[in-house]
Amino acid sequence: MYQGTQKGWIEVISGVMFSGKSEELLRRVRRALIANRRVQVFKSRLDDRYGSLANVISHDGQQTDALPVSTSIHIAEAVLPNTQVVAIDEAQFLDMGIVRVANSLASRGIRVIIAGTDMDFRGDPFGPMPFLLAIADKVDKLHAICVRCGDPATRNQRLIDGKPAPAEGPTIQVGGAESYEARCRKCHEIPPRDRSQLEMVMERRASEGAGPE
Ligand code: ADP
Ligand code: ZN
Repeated sequence: MYQGTQKGWIEVISGVMFSGKSEELLRRVRRALIANRRVQVFKSRLDDRYGSLANVISHDGQQTDALPVSTSIHIAEAVLPNTQVVAIDEAQFLDMGIVRVANSLASRGIRVIIAGTDMDFRGDPFGPMPFLLAIADKVDKLHAICVRCGDPATRNQRLIDGKPAPAEGPTIQVGGAESYEARCRKCHEIPPRDRSQLEMVMERRASEGAGPE
């Protein structure tokens, strides 16, 4: 429904990691290339784990490279005067300025397609994503599959050395021993805040005391 018009708008593809946001972004970019639109693709420089967006190749061999950017200003500066479609992946890692940049590109008549994880590993809104979702003209929320139970997954589970990571960790952690998996709300685990040994002993005693003799 959005493919035919030349007017500017913002579409956001949100959801958990592994939900297919990059695949969906690529699908839309390929279709825009088939429609002979002039497309520019950007991705946050913070995420170099996925190579999928490095080259977007259309049916006629036309190639569009995803330009890694550090800030929203880089995107604003890099968009060429005749560009019709701007696609941005991993937008959760970008600064708040992306909200303004997206709005101004759309008001210039550009179709802006933004993909990003909407929640951090704690289940809190991630970076500029809640604002991008609010200003978008069209929103899609994709689900992955929960690796524990097979239900639709909406949460990012952070694991450190294979164990659920506590809430205190940094929101963005590049490198290190952490990894992520998709989980549903029920299977998503955040260990309780740092507790002293004493608290844990007291709790165990209380629960043992409450049990049958
Ligand atoms: P995103 O950009 O949302 O992180 P991608 O487009 O990079 O997602 O990857 C989506 C692909 O990941 C799926 O097509 C599937 O092959 C794969 N995948 C791996 N783990 C899962 C999972 N738990 N649920 C769904 N897809 C998964
Ligand atoms: Zn589950």
